[in-house]
Amino acid sequence: MAKGIIFVADGMAGRPIPELDGKTTLESADTPHMDRIALEGECGLLDPISPGVRAGSDTSHLALLGYNPYEYYTGRGPFEAMGAGLAVKPGDIALRMNFATIDDKGIVIDRRAGRIQENEGTHQLAELLNHLEIDRVQILCNASTAHRGAVVLRGEDLSGEIEDADPHREGKPIPKAKPLTKEAKRTGAVVDKLIAKSVELFRDHEINKKRIKEGKSPANCVLLRGAGVAPRVQLFSERYKIKGAAVVEVGLIRGIARFLGLDLIDVPTATGGADTDEVGLARAVVGALGDYDLVLTNIKAPDLGGHDGDYKAKISAIEKADRMSGIIYEGIKGSDTHLAILADHATPVVCRDHTGDAVPIATWGKMTRPDGVKSYGERPCIGGGLERIQGIDLMPIMLNLMGAAEKFGA
Ligand code: ZN
Ligand code: ZN
Repeated sequence: MAKGIIFVADGMAGRPIPELDGKTTLESADTPHMDRIALEGECGLLDPISPGVRAGSDTSHLALLGYNPYEYYTGRGPFEAMGAGLAVKPGDIALRMNFATIDDKGIVIDRRAGRIQENEGTHQLAELLNHLEIDRVQILCNASTAHRGAVVLRGEDLSGEIEDADPHREGKPIPKAKPLTKEAKRTGAVVDKLIAKSVELFRDHEINKKRIKEGKSPANCVLLRGAGVAPRVQLFSERYKIKGAAVVEVGLIRGIARFLGLDLIDVPTATGGADTDEVGLARAVVGALGDYDLVLTNIKAPDLGGHDGDYKAKISAIEKADRMSGIIYEGIKGSDTHLAILADHATPVVCRDHTGDAVPIATWGKMTRPDGVKSYGERPCIGGGLERIQGIDLMPIMLNLMGAAEKFGA
């Protein structure tokens, strides 16, 4: 069987920019490798979810891997927990967490604990809650970026139907995690006890003594919100009868890949930022083909330039992604590997956030039908042989090219 690579340049697609004479960053960037792949391959536009729907990186990657996000995206809690590096399992309850500050009377006086940062001890504090057991429920806890983190509750008879144990503004006490159904009573009680435990364990911790001495707000409790149950999914290998791996940088995509059963391949020099090691990423992708049938890769930098509204940064990130695609191309040329190059959504510099625009896609390999598209970009790909497809169509297209698709009918 042939092999496949799904190459995602995060947020690479965009909209016309006045300073670039109405071109997009992708159309302005120097992308000789992606252009050649488009020229030799079959191109089109892809709506990550459906036309006009603004995809997150999480919902988009679910779709790109063939999991309908309307079925499997069960709220931010479980996906943030995956992104925070917690080994989320189907059926777990997950919540988003803030480190916060309460006064002596229990009133929340800072929902972000003085905007505490990761290098100021949030991981150590989270570790105090990690692996606790409350009412026969196992607690997993990790810090993520800045004052944020996530919690997973694992045990019998749990439910995501609870209200937030977070006042959502300062000057109020921490509310109870009120159960919304009879079945959620136990879950609410566990959440309340976990918060009480954080108060008890964090209060006199060295990290907080130091913060108080420095005149900073102590992280003396956690707030928990956005409870959701992790979806029950069929693992990637069972669903497609192929072995998958992921060479991806940031926590959220790593978490989703791991949750779906893809093996993670680490590239220590991949930073997830503008300074990432595209050569290392590309080599890891090509190397993984020795052991795996399909490799997902995601380079994050283009999305960051879009969010920052910095077209120069975005162009240079796209050129980095292009170099990465060039190394992959050289590594698989002449072999029986099919490649798809796309963005998981648009992050236009002019909007500084994800938009619901279609993104360009190029598929390449010996089973593709070249279609006359001459270069890679939002507009050059219009009129390609794939025409306009959706994110959920990508896996069937890849499996078909790879000769790994099951026949529907006789
Ligand atoms: Zn993204
Ligand atoms: Zn983004």
